[in-house]
Amino acid sequence: MANSSSDRLLVTAALPYANGPIHIGHLAGAYLPADLFVRYQRLKGRDVAFICGSDEMGVAILMRALREDRTPEDIIDTYHPQIRDNFDRFGMSFDYYGRTSSETHVETTQDFFRVLDEKDVFELKTEEQLYDPEADMFLADRFVVGTCPGCGYEKAYGDQCEQCGSSLSPTELENPQSTLTDATPELKETTHWYLPLGRLQPKLEDWIEEHPEWKNNVLGQIQSWFNEGLKSRAITRDVPWGVPVPEDVAERHGLEAEGKVIYVWFDAPIGYISATKEWAEAQGTPDEWSDYWQDEDTTLVHFIGKDNIIFHCLMFPAMLMEHGDYVLPDNVPANEFLNLEGQKLSTSRGWAVWLHEYLDDFASERHGPDLLRYALAATLPESADADFSWEEFQRRVNGELANIFGNFVHRTLTFVHRYFDGQVPPLNDPSAADRAMLDALGEAPEAVAAAYDEYQTRDAVFETMALARRGNKYFNETEPWHTQETDPQACANTIHVSLQVCASLAVLFEPVVPSAAAALRDRLGLENVRTSTPGADPDDAAGWHDAGTPLLQAGMTLPVASDADPLFEKIDDSQIEAQIEKLRDRADQQDSESSSTSEMADALDDLKSPISFDDFSALDLRSGTITDAEPVPDADKLLRLEVDIGLEERQILAGVAEQIEPGALVGLNVVVVANMEPKEMFGFESQGMVLMAEEPDGTFVPVTTDAVDGSVVR
Ligand SMILES: [Zn+2]
Repeated sequence: MANSSSDRLLVTAALPYANGPIHIGHLAGAYLPADLFVRYQRLKGRDVAFICGSDEMGVAILMRALREDRTPEDIIDTYHPQIRDNFDRFGMSFDYYGRTSSETHVETTQDFFRVLDEKDVFELKTEEQLYDPEADMFLADRFVVGTCPGCGYEKAYGDQCEQCGSSLSPTELENPQSTLTDATPELKETTHWYLPLGRLQPKLEDWIEEHPEWKNNVLGQIQSWFNEGLKSRAITRDVPWGVPVPEDVAERHGLEAEGKVIYVWFDAPIGYISATKEWAEAQGTPDEWSDYWQDEDTTLVHFIGKDNIIFHCLMFPAMLMEHGDYVLPDNVPANEFLNLEGQKLSTSRGWAVWLHEYLDDFASERHGPDLLRYALAATLPESADADFSWEEFQRRVNGELANIFGNFVHRTLTFVHRYFDGQVPPLNDPSAADRAMLDALGEAPEAVAAAYDEYQTRDAVFETMALARRGNKYFNETEPWHTQETDPQACANTIHVSLQVCASLAVLFEPVVPSAAAALRDRLGLENVRTSTPGADPDDAAGWHDAGTPLLQAGMTLPVASDADPLFEKIDDSQIEAQIEKLRDRADQQDSESSSTSEMADALDDLKSPISFDDFSALDLRSGTITDAEPVPDADKLLRLEVDIGLEERQILAGVAEQIEPGALVGLNVVVVANMEPKEMFGFESQGMVLMAEEPDGTFVPVTTDAVDGSVVR
């Protein structure tokens, strides 16, 4: 944004899958930072369209439907309205929230596909793919499981091995099995469209080079994809759910369109375009969508989580470039992951805070959604993973929102009603302290804006709270409760200046705590200031930069306080304990369900066939000490271990990063397979294996020994 001169801004937030509810990890990844940024831009008077919607055409929807014996339509019709309404309750201020099952989206996607096909951008490849003769269906992704060729894990999916993190294609699996019917699949020929990303890589590299200002975590991930070399990526597939391949395009190549759909990674980002079309239509200006997508004066920003970087920084831009009629993103400020109470979020383990549950649990709390907005915004995983804890939430709410911001407003308003008949007292002959406070006020909008402009949302929140903190300190130091008796003019000056600070905070805090900011504007009688919600504000309305100047006139009467409640209530310990207990109970329940006796037997692997003693002695098992452990960049599931096996030091990669913290492994005495053939993964050579027992729920427990390093295990 810093180097863009245009006024028109198009902001998107990642489309959530309509197959489950939203949790705080989603909010911290993409939605909350996007909303704060957009609200800030609206307060500046920027022409902005904020677009999002439900991602409904992906195979994950179909998988869930099959698992629950429902139709995909039933799944999306359940989750789309829930997600939309909960976003709304949370204060997400989208201009439009669409869905990719809409007719406009199907047409827009098919048109886009047709244009690229006619420009001969695609490659067509005919290949043999796995086919389930019983289900009469090709088996993509998660419709097939088998043994991972990399690590030997027996339940790897057709798209990815969950143990070692490798990307796979279904035909790479050994002993494949259909997840639909358990049938052994056969190979059958099929033709698909591919986007030749390898050929487009030089163009993408040139374009990325123009953006050295992007976040390091984003550029780092892009660079590692470039280093590996981009590969052609299939755009179509044979599954019964998705945007259909248009018949005329298939005919052009002498193919049948039937049964073929467009891959979700291709159609989902086009969802931003179709939702913008629907928004323009709803506003009665149907052509206006193209100003936002096709006019080069538009600045396009995608807010996403880090798992979406490749799609928004490489694939979608490649599609837009090849189409030729569209602007490219100006920035893609992706966030890292949010952990919860020191552990990775896990929806399957129930280790998550669900948005709808939070909204219900804190519904009676004054400005309830604002509390989570503030606490999360102060904890965003902007450059590294961050941790959300309920105690930290309580500290943010009680110690900052209530004790600093709320307390300052409350003291100021109580004073003005008690001693000044609710009128803004005049400022006469201001003291050095008064002038210093007004100077700090004058600098605040720029300081906060600079952070938002650099996508440093957390810093923007800290800078905003710093103004409230400064106001509180000023109030304490000028002691109006004393001067009220000894020096009435000094008292009037303190209250005048404090009211101006309150008015500025009502504007500057609006992106973070919109509900409380609106309540504060009402109490101050602050009219004719811009709001950060969609809709037109009067041209002469005061906005972001006016918040550096006094917004209230001396002599004006504040509305009679109908209630004198503080802006924020404190959170009780019991509320926090209840949340933590709920989290623990749910995780315990999940853990015990997955290990209950009957399921235990199911979950345990069958015994393998007998082997000879010679086969066993071929293994060189040694005791060793793990001396170092660290994550492997870009491999979410791998840890790189250094193990001292007495005779030498080994580097060993282990697929346990999601279950075990690296620190917990260092110092353990373990058993190592010392004569495994070395194997290269993610740029590291793995020189052996550390033995671990896998419990039925997927937990890994290292096999340990007290023997001296290098001892032979036999
Ligand atoms: Zn594997």
